[in-house]
Amino acid sequence: MHELGLLTSVVAAVEKAAAQADSQVTRVEKVALDVGTMSEAIPEALYGSWPIARQDSICAQAELEVTMIPASVYCPRCARDVPIDEFFALTCPECGMPTGNLTHGREFKIAWVQWDTEPEDPSSAAES
Ligand SMILES: [Zn+2]
Repeated sequence: MHELGLLTSVVAAVEKAAAQADSQVTRVEKVALDVGTMSEAIPEALYGSWPIARQDSICAQAELEVTMIPASVYCPRCARDVPIDEFFALTCPECGMPTGNLTHGREFKIAWVQWDTEPEDPSSAAES
């Protein structure tokens, strides 16, 4: 499953970040992802794969939150970012000009992570 591989990388990235944190991370509460609507990840499949991806990791009890990022292209004729839906297939919906310049929509990244740390230093939780 494609999404499981993506999430396994997410868990690995969170574990790495936690290992580098200033204080001991005891538990990851929540992992938030930004996922472009034109990325290959499907939110339902991400949520479905999460319990498998997180098991036996620092994220074992963490919730997953997926925020979909709408796709947009930069159209040189309109000289701005124009939102597209997946069916416009890299063509400006305003003027019809083909453009390969996708500015948003292929994101797949960790937006933020909320975790608990040792009580000595609660201020360093990576929360936003
Ligand atoms: Zn245009």
